[in-house]
Amino acid sequence: YHQWFAPWKSRLFECLQISKSVAMIWIDLSTSYHCNRTMEEQTVRVLTNFQKRSNDLDRFIYLISLQDRNEKLFYKVLSENVEEMMPIVYTPTVGQACEHYGIVFRRPRGLFISINDKGHIYDILCNWPERNVKAIVVTDGERILGLGDLGVYGMGIPVGKLSLYTALGGIHPAKCLPILLDVGTNNKKLHADPLYIGRQKGRITGAEYDELVDEFMHAVQRRYGSTCLIQFEDFANHNAFRFLDKYRNKYCTFNDDIQGTAAVGAAGIFASLRITGKKLIDNVFLFQGAGGANTGIAQLLSLAMQEEGATEAEANSKIWMVDIGGLLTKGRPAGDIEGHKAVFAKDFKHMNNLEEMVDEIKPTAIIGASAVPGAFTDRIIKAMGKYNERPIIFALSNPTSKAECSAEQAYALTEGRCMFASGSPFPSYNMNGKTLHPGQGNNAYIFPGVALGVITCGLRHIPDLLFLRAAQRLAELVTDDHLAEGRVYPPLSDIQEVSFKIAVDLAQYCYSNGLASAYPEPENKAEYIRSFMYTLEYESFEPETWEWPGSA
Ligand code: NAP
Ligand code: MN
Repeated sequence: YHQWFAPWKSRLFECLQISKSVAMIWIDLSTSYHCNRTMEEQTVRVLTNFQKRSNDLDRFIYLISLQDRNEKLFYKVLSENVEEMMPIVYTPTVGQACEHYGIVFRRPRGLFISINDKGHIYDILCNWPERNVKAIVVTDGERILGLGDLGVYGMGIPVGKLSLYTALGGIHPAKCLPILLDVGTNNKKLHADPLYIGRQKGRITGAEYDELVDEFMHAVQRRYGSTCLIQFEDFANHNAFRFLDKYRNKYCTFNDDIQGTAAVGAAGIFASLRITGKKLIDNVFLFQGAGGANTGIAQLLSLAMQEEGATEAEANSKIWMVDIGGLLTKGRPAGDIEGHKAVFAKDFKHMNNLEEMVDEIKPTAIIGASAVPGAFTDRIIKAMGKYNERPIIFALSNPTSKAECSAEQAYALTEGRCMFASGSPFPSYNMNGKTLHPGQGNNAYIFPGVALGVITCGLRHIPDLLFLRAAQRLAELVTDDHLAEGRVYPPLSDIQEVSFKIAVDLAQYCYSNGLASAYPEPENKAEYIRSFMYTLEYESFEPETWEWPGSA
């Protein structure tokens, strides 16, 4: 045993991580080595290799190869190095990986369901080796990050998101299933790409497309039950809002681009209010951009005001929005303002210039998610500082090059008085000997915790109030010390604990409000959720044994 089993025992553990259902154990005695490397030592090797790579895409490839080879070790390393590795397995590097997916591709880490499979989606789901799937992230690749239509190359996104479900939310990887719906792509470059792994024709739209998505939802419910979470990700806006409305009360589903962003954005506002000292209803919000991100935030803020006692009309009157056509006003031509933003249109003169709007409306908070770089001009930032003791300035557009303004601009032009958050990270800023840390409104603060709460409680659908609750909890987790440093979110290094606390809080809420279906109700929610979570240590494959009483 000691001579030959011990040395490769650790390798046996590695082998067993390859697949949960098929354990292929190949023991080559001729190459057995003298040492038994612990997981900690393996971690050092991984980190050394990771840091040696000369660019982020190579780091990405190295990490997904590790994920294929030794899943447990991958999650251990990722969980312990979130700040360094999250930007690799998730945005921004995952975007690069999607653009080059034909080259990056090693093996499918999820299911590709083609429009040609229509009528057989249930059969395809049955081919997936795991029977107990609890979370699906699905995309059709039409609007991948800010990169546009990448077709099946968008698979990198569901894979990356679900990696964070595990690394941040503790959801077992075997319970996670990435899915790509391949209805073609309108990206002409991909039609000519010899490495493309999908349908090289234009997108199927209309009834045929809707039927596919409908069949997909039904097949998931049939295969994995009505408590299987389905997260919609990176669908184009014209489908995202539609599907959310259509399925939100029928399935356990949410759209992270709309609802996840909404919760993170709102949480940043809630935390800021502890500094400005204003009640939510006493604010005036001006949104630059009225797309998925900003409309989601606006809707959630409106809901929060209503929870505090305002009527819907009063709440919406505090929210002003701007899109390509300028300020959303009732005087704009009919059909110019799509359904989801119409409630925010004001009986007001029409304006196109953001600087003039700020002077006229005098917002307490200005929130940009329009991907128009520099939209918050020096004059706008100064005006925000003039009208408010503590202005709120959020420049949420990604990547950094698209931000409405930089952290430095916002701090410098308001003498360090503003509460600032952005979509992409900005370096901290020194102001009169004080270091200010810009908040990064990363959706990863919200979706892993929400998913963990939803799955462990066995929710059948996800009301918007749950996202509001998650946002409020996230804001509570910002300490006074964080706020004093300018932070409106907890540090990224705390994100696993944040996710866990959000999940526990949601569980309390779900059981108190009759939303949970996992019975009997666990007395200690925190313990119950902990016991569900994926562990980062190698498991023993020896079965448990016990003694019967001697009298037996
Ligand atoms: P989207 O749905 O395409 O929305 C963009 C919005 O900006 C649309 O309402 C558009 O107007 C408006 N717009 C475009 N050009 C404009 C201009 N010149 N003036 C005024 N408005 C203009 O995109 P999205 O999903 O909301 O994302 C927007 C940005 O937010 C992206 O940069 C994204 O990376 C970022 N984002 C950040 C986070 C985060 O920080 N956590 C999360 C999600 C998204 P029309 O409606 O008239 O077309
Ligand atoms: Mn997204």
